[in-house]
Amino acid sequence: AAKRDGRDRFAVFDPVMYTDITRETQQRADLERALDEDQFVLYFQPIVDLTTRRLVGVEALVRWHHPVDGLVGPDTFIPIAEATGLIVPLGQWIIRQAVRQLAQWHRDNPATTHLRMSINVSGRQFQGSGLVEEVTAVLAETGVDPNAIVLEITESMLMQDVDATALMLQELRDLGVRVAVDDFGTGYSSLSYLKRFPVDILKVDRSFVGGHNADDTTLADAVLGLGRALQLQTVAEGIETDTQWSTMRDLGYDYGQGYLFARPASAVHIDQLMADPTSPLPSV
Ligand code: C2E
Ligand code: MG
Ligand code: MG
Ligand code: MG
Repeated sequence: AAKRDGRDRFAVFDPVMYTDITRETQQRADLERALDEDQFVLYFQPIVDLTTRRLVGVEALVRWHHPVDGLVGPDTFIPIAEATGLIVPLGQWIIRQAVRQLAQWHRDNPATTHLRMSINVSGRQFQGSGLVEEVTAVLAETGVDPNAIVLEITESMLMQDVDATALMLQELRDLGVRVAVDDFGTGYSSLSYLKRFPVDILKVDRSFVGGHNADDTTLADAVLGLGRALQLQTVAEGIETDTQWSTMRDLGYDYGQGYLFARPASAVHIDQLMADPTSPLPSV
């Protein structure tokens, strides 16, 4: 029997599983410390009116100033933050930081008060009612116009728990904030589902913006038609070339975002744009 117990115990301490658990514990501890020690920083990427190339707002994109690895992108740590639950406090920090930054820009230059702040929100932040309270609190604290805040959610999040998500979106809408569907076209939402959600903006994924010649515009055109049918504002993501810009503009997309206009940059860098917010953004 002792021998059997021994074998059973060994089976419980499966070395592969053991490594996974310690790795996750370690990763959570790393992220927790990063949050405690203020190692996260928000970058901001301009969003422009495609006709005038004038700034209409910025999207907040989080980075991690890792003490050893340097600047780490969100694709590396957001999935870990989601898996470990740390996305909830991290997400709160992101919302606070982004709304406070917008309030600062609005205060510094009244000519920027029409500019919006887009903030990415994870699925986990939608569970429970914390998000609505958090947004309410930071709007009250800063006095920012709720209309200037856009919360970006992904298409796959919409499909996870349709009724709960629709309810949450309605509560956010009631506060006056806008909602955008991010990376649109990469998920599997159907028209009839999309119609049920109170959203304001469709951001078409950069894979639809086309190749370097932007020759195949069929899908981008189809997504635009959908956006119009639902009376949504449309944003084309990942515009890198002049041809992609003029193609999306001529199709009729309202707004655009991409390396052609500006890469994500730190607040200090964006300060310069905010000082003169009506100049068209040049190609970079
Ligand atoms: P996203 O929300 O779709 O953000 C756009 C991503 O595309 C950003 O990558 C941006 O730097 C990149 N991008 C912008 N223009 C171009 C372009 O012209 N060409 C190319 N190739 N890429 C472009 P980033 O900053 O690495 O963020 C990746 C993703 O991580 C985001 O995709 C978003 O899903 C997530 N993420 C970023 N910040 C946050 C955050 O604060 N909270 C949450 N929950 N997720 C975030
Ligand atoms: Mg986004
Ligand atoms: Mg996107
Ligand atoms: Mg994306």
